[in-house]
Amino acid sequence: MGINHKRDAGTQPAVAPSESVLSGQTKGERLTDMFARSISYLRISLTDHCNLRCQYCSPQEGQVKLTSEELLSYEEILRVVRIAVSLGIEKVRLTGGEPLVRRDVLTFIKALAEIPGLTDIRLTTNGVLLADYAEALQKAGISKLNISLDTLRPERFQQITGVDAFARVWAGISKARELGFSPIKLNVVALKGVNDDEFIDFARLTLTEPLQIRFIEFMPIGVSALWDKGKYISSQEIKELIKPVGPLEPVPAKHMDGPARIYRFSGAVGSVGFISPISHHFCDRCNRLRLTSEGRLRSCLLSDQETDLKESLRNGATDSAIRELMVATILNKPKGHTISPDGPGNCHGQMSRIGG
Ligand code: SAM
Repeated sequence: MGINHKRDAGTQPAVAPSESVLSGQTKGERLTDMFARSISYLRISLTDHCNLRCQYCSPQEGQVKLTSEELLSYEEILRVVRIAVSLGIEKVRLTGGEPLVRRDVLTFIKALAEIPGLTDIRLTTNGVLLADYAEALQKAGISKLNISLDTLRPERFQQITGVDAFARVWAGISKARELGFSPIKLNVVALKGVNDDEFIDFARLTLTEPLQIRFIEFMPIGVSALWDKGKYISSQEIKELIKPVGPLEPVPAKHMDGPARIYRFSGAVGSVGFISPISHHFCDRCNRLRLTSEGRLRSCLLSDQETDLKESLRNGATDSAIRELMVATILNKPKGHTISPDGPGNCHGQMSRIGG
């Protein structure tokens, strides 16, 4: 595959385009945007290809997949990450599409783990290939996993995802537990009339299993086959539904914790999280940038404003020119998003290319 492990000379911190706004130009400091949000986290969609076809994620008309030429190459992604680290990024999450379906992903992760200053590499997966990959992922440098699982019922899993793979995902979760991955977070997209009758079962799992169950509000992204506002259910409503399990105690957030608000049932081994992008915007705390699978830098999940890095990467741009593009993207990060349960606002991009 020919990954270049050398650190580019040009990825050292450089002079800020605007010293008054940016603070991330010296070691130990980080780039802040126009609203004093410190940007430390890059999510990367490694591919838009996936081995599931979740109704809420796939476009209505069927998905046109990127060709391997259209995807950013691993070398290109590594270069972007090196530059991002020089601007203060410490944490990277690999997502997709399904990151584990991309060829040579382990070699790529090993190269990523060698980037000095990158302290935290995580993965979001649908879990279908996890049982086979878990050990190698751990060796390659991943210790924290998010696994998406919207139902605990095999038949329903097939209805939602189009594939009969519940047992494989469950085997992947078991394997990750056996290997000591921690934390293991299960992402459950809350869909009224689809899986809301299982929220209690998911919540009960945390009583005995060291899992964090994260209920995610359904977002109107792109034109998904399942989206309709009647399927949206707020975190507050989910909390009500799981009340019979017991009282929830808040768990204090840790450094680098995401936007989830975490709770625990009294005496439970695991925890429950609520991610509420629609009912409780967390834009004021957003520390994220996203690199789409076709090489666009996106400063807000729910806004289609993007910077094309691929064109520059392929046209001989220097690292400092790429860095300037990244800085400009951060400076243009919107204050907040405008999405509501009523519609997609200004987000029409494809989830699999953006990576969630
Ligand atoms: N294939 C991987 C997986 O399944 O986790 C990574 C990509 S997937 C796009 C990332 C996350 O986005 C998953 O947890 C998925 O459930 C969530 N997601 C996709 N579409 C969504 C939507 N419209 N609203 C909320 N979450 C969504």
